[in-house]
Amino acid sequence: MFREIQGQNRIIGYFEKVLATGRVSHAYLLCGEDDAKEALARSFAQALLCTSPVTADGRIDACGTCAACLKMQAEDHPDLKIIRHEKAQTISVEEIRPLRTEAQVKPYEGRYKIFMIPEADKMTPQAQNALLKTLEEPPGQTVLLLLASTPERFLPTVLSRTVLLRTDPPLMRKEDAVLTDETKKLLLRLPDATSYDMTTFVKEQIPDADAAEGFLRIVYRWIRDIAVYKRTETDDNLISPEEIQYIRKSAAALSYEKIARIEAAIDTAARRLRARGNTELILELLLLRIRSCFYE
Ligand SMILES: [Zn+2]
Repeated sequence: MFREIQGQNRIIGYFEKVLATGRVSHAYLLCGEDDAKEALARSFAQALLCTSPVTADGRIDACGTCAACLKMQAEDHPDLKIIRHEKAQTISVEEIRPLRTEAQVKPYEGRYKIFMIPEADKMTPQAQNALLKTLEEPPGQTVLLLLASTPERFLPTVLSRTVLLRTDPPLMRKEDAVLTDETKKLLLRLPDATSYDMTTFVKEQIPDADAAEGFLRIVYRWIRDIAVYKRTETDDNLISPEEIQYIRKSAAALSYEKIARIEAAIDTAARRLRARGNTELILELLLLRIRSCFYE
């Protein structure tokens, strides 16, 4: 249930809106490096199948006590199918085919029929294509929950038919990343910054790998605010609502695809930092990549 999950308020807030409006998409892709994504997917599934969801303080969650909830908690609800795979490395087309057949059958007890695929990025291209058939002609009440560490291994055709939700990495949850005036200035004027500006900023403001990690956290929050605003068009769930004017402008300038590209660039930079790459080069490259997204 959502109330048992630590952090992840952004995605929970998003799911609560979906539940409140009843505008449920046919497929969600939850990406992130930790276990939060499965807890989020299960909680969302439970809230969809719960027969008496509770609303408190404007929040919506499964009740935890109805027959449907008890079955969900025992992993025994006929309308939730979890596709576990046999082979360690790949999910084959044979493992996806039964899902397509099953998706044609109406829900047994609930209003939705939910399929969850952990480690969905292990699907072979053939398996993804088989899944695509289900996504192209989604039977009415089917909801597909794909879980993966990154969206990189999915076919563009699959990505374009799913709602991509990235969990907040542990990196983001630490509270110690402080937005200094210098960092703020750089982010605000990034679309117009020269390479010289970026090099100077990195040299002067980021003395070591720890500072670099803190900087990445801030950039994460900045791009997430832009993504959240783009989707919701309100400042309700923003981390920095005081920057709304700038966030609104950036959200208009960046397509979802560009935002995803920036998020991927931040992921890559974080990975390279952990592998002890050259801090200066990694950050400069990241800033250049972000800037290019404003112009291409
Ligand atoms: Zn319930």
